[in-house]
Amino acid sequence: MLETTSKQEAAPAGMGMQKTQYDMAVEQFQRAADIMKLDPNVQEILRKPRRILSVNFPVKMDDGRILLYQGFRSQHNNALGPYKGGIRFHPNVTIDEVKALSMWMTWKCAVAGVPFGGAKGGVTVNPKQLSHRELENLSRSFFSMISEIVGPYRDIPAPDVYTDSQTMAWFMDEYSKQEKNNAFAVVTGKPLIIGGSLGRDSATGRGVSITIEEAARHLKIDLKKATCAVQGFGNVGSWAFEFLEQAGVKVVAVSDSRGGAYKKTGLWFNEVAAYKKKTGSIVNLPGSQPITNEELLELDVDILVPSALEDVITRDNAKSIKAKLIAEGANGPTTPEADDILFKNNVTVIPDILANSGGVSTSYLEWVQNLQHLYWTAEEVDHRLKTIMVKAFAEAYKTSQEYNVDMRTGAYIYAIGKVRDAMKIRGWF
Ligand code: NAD
Repeated sequence: MLETTSKQEAAPAGMGMQKTQYDMAVEQFQRAADIMKLDPNVQEILRKPRRILSVNFPVKMDDGRILLYQGFRSQHNNALGPYKGGIRFHPNVTIDEVKALSMWMTWKCAVAGVPFGGAKGGVTVNPKQLSHRELENLSRSFFSMISEIVGPYRDIPAPDVYTDSQTMAWFMDEYSKQEKNNAFAVVTGKPLIIGGSLGRDSATGRGVSITIEEAARHLKIDLKKATCAVQGFGNVGSWAFEFLEQAGVKVVAVSDSRGGAYKKTGLWFNEVAAYKKKTGSIVNLPGSQPITNEELLELDVDILVPSALEDVITRDNAKSIKAKLIAEGANGPTTPEADDILFKNNVTVIPDILANSGGVSTSYLEWVQNLQHLYWTAEEVDHRLKTIMVKAFAEAYKTSQEYNVDMRTGAYIYAIGKVRDAMKIRGWF
């Protein structure tokens, strides 16, 4: 008997009045579109993804049951190059979320200046409930189902929430079997042994740190005297912590899902990482004072790096934020209402589409290495990443100054302008 695992899609019209992520993505787009007086025809094209594939596919479980799973791939825009964006495995994945994330990827790639469009995919599943073999079956089946719209020159997926380099290896292998060649360049974020890039793991945190260094120059913040709080100690937060420490910043607070640790005289990355490895958390770090995630955001520091969850800086706490600079390591940590309050209070926010674009930028470098079959050293990759991030920051900053808007809106205007110009010259409108 075939069992279905898919979530009910959106609530019936009129039942749920809460804004969806897609509503938020369109709202952010609309703000920039209005300010730049974007042609209404272009607005119409960019408000919706070009293509959304929804698939239902059976997966064989270890106990012999066959479960039916649902997955999506949303391709928002490919005027600047092949579609690019992660695939997540999570119980809350909906078509709406995937649409929003694909739109954000279009802007992120355009800001970074990497020749890609925006896409995102997901499967509605709790991967923690699956065995290794079940996860492999699911990964291969899903990729096989979307293989007709992906490809090294069409759409190049990458890891996202609860997918990793192993998932990418299965995806690549499945696609290569179908194509009857070794298609390394069909996904990025692969293991090194099959075409992954050096520097990919640390890239997002490194990018966060580079954008902070660029912002500090403009804001005349002396990083050697600056203090910082980092929310989240996962991939992005931990690398950002380490690179900021190397840049001379004193990180005084850090947190994970269980709570935070604060030390006025500064924490040391190696000590925090060792304690987290030993105990599984950073709560009760010796010599530190416990704080909540909410308190961490309102600390009297120069720089704040939210690197965990979305919607943590809202209209309720924005006015209590004391940091002068916020770098969004996470996707979507600040609501549009909070953005307005922060801008009024002269707080500079380096938006997610810029601050955390180091990941997709190094994915681009991985793709290039795969296509040319020539692999770079870690130093070469890091150098190229720095060049990309410094330019992206400069363009977004310049645009925000020209229009007298916050950096998010500046980054959007810059990104949307590039996509518009590409569509125009290609004759799409
Ligand atoms: P991760 O799973 O490695 O780490 C997440 C961290 O957040 C962990 O330390 C976890 O303990 C913490 N956390 C979870 N719930 C929390 C809560 N309620 N309060 C405080 N902390 C909590 O994830 P990641 O890859 O570091 O991603 C973090 C964010 O960065 C996400 O928004 C993700 O979309 C974004 N991002 C990641 C990358 C990347 O390359 N990994 C690239 C771009 C954007």
